Amino acid sequence: MSQESTLQKIKNMRISCPHCGHHLHLSLDTSGGDQDYYEECPSCCNDIHLNMHIDEYHQKIQLAIDSDDEQVF
Ligand SMILES: [Zn+2]
Repeated sequence: MSQESTLQKIKNMRISCPHCGHHLHLSLDTSGGDQDYYEECPSCCNDIHLNMHIDEYHQKIQLAIDSDDEQVF
């Protein structure tokens, strides 16, 4: 007897762009652990810095969004 895994590894999140406030949908692959990456806003074309942390103990996903504005010289 085989059991297919029905665990949702892809989480759909809705975020808003820190630059322009545009809402966008993200598909987060939680199977690979923590992720730190950039997504380009389709509205204003600025980079959005995303930091996903998976809290396995509490079975929660923490998503930090920032614009990285301070690092622009
Ligand atoms: Zn934007």
